[in-house]
Amino acid sequence: PRRRVLTSDDYFDGVVQGNLAMLARAFTLVESSATKHHAIAEDLLTRLMPHSGRGIRIGITGAPGAGKSTFIEALGLLLVQQRGLRVAVLAVDPSSGVTGGSILGDKTRMGRLAAEENAFIRPSPSAGTLGGVANKTRECMLVAEAAGFDVILVETVGVGQSETMVAEMTDCFLGLMLPGAGDELQGIKRGLLELLDVIAVNKADGKNAEAAALAARQYHNALDSLSGRQSTGVPSILTCSALTKKGIDAVWDAIESKCERRRESGAFDNRRKEQNLRWLWAIVEDQLRQTLHTHPGVQEICDDVENQVLAGTMPPAIGARRLMEVIIKT
Ligand code: GDP
Repeated sequence: PRRRVLTSDDYFDGVVQGNLAMLARAFTLVESSATKHHAIAEDLLTRLMPHSGRGIRIGITGAPGAGKSTFIEALGLLLVQQRGLRVAVLAVDPSSGVTGGSILGDKTRMGRLAAEENAFIRPSPSAGTLGGVANKTRECMLVAEAAGFDVILVETVGVGQSETMVAEMTDCFLGLMLPGAGDELQGIKRGLLELLDVIAVNKADGKNAEAAALAARQYHNALDSLSGRQSTGVPSILTCSALTKKGIDAVWDAIESKCERRRESGAFDNRRKEQNLRWLWAIVEDQLRQTLHTHPGVQEICDDVENQVLAGTMPPAIGARRLMEVIIKT
């Protein structure tokens, strides 16, 4: 049967009432790249804005196999069942362009969390819809907050720019590490260490317990030699087991106390404001780039300009100005 076309009111009412079916449809709407959805999606987001912002946004990264799904399910169940919080899980999945496959995999793995009334797991959007700024996770985050979710967990994997993207849309960024004893921090990127607020060495159970403690000490040492972290402070380093659930509550406490300290200092709100401004300009730049590459006027002259630059009859700066004039005038 054909579904009735939903209005902005339908979406708005459904979302603020916390209706999970409507929430799923609102996500699909704001993620849609179809032109016909833009106006209603923008209207909905504008109306939801005053209802959003109250959630705490946590980014979680880790290599494939580090235990992200297992950890998120354990943390989510803890928050829902013991802390009385509502938890939404979103993902920024830099799906492989080569295989078209999802790196983060099938979120139905978090079956027990998904079954909770106060949890919502948004599966990764299908491959191909992502890339650069086109990602709509931030918008989904606002929708989830407006629907009354207290904690938004944004999962990603350490590929390309995805970690920076997630760090720039969350209040606190957690890195889930493997207890690879002796592997010299598993080749962790210096840039990543600077993004992380909390480092949790997972799988600290059974015969891995000692290796995990050793890895935690190695992270401590690595951080000691890294100076100049002013803005976000030194990350907390813990060990945990998503499997046995040991230490999961301590990881959450570390996240909470980071956020609490930042709230008191004003850094929490400042970070969000800066993130919003950066997001604004990222979208503008992205759309300018798109316009430049799809504008018919640009298409019309670009071969000619390129050929003249190649032939050495036109200075690149003049060619650039001719191309820019096309989009600036129209
Ligand atoms: P992801 O790829 O990062 O999402 O990792 P998964 O959550 O799918 O976990 C990868 C594998 O590690 C699975 O076989 C999990 O059962 C296992 N695993 C996850 N967390 C733990 C843990 O704390 N301890 C142990 N021993 N195994 C774990």
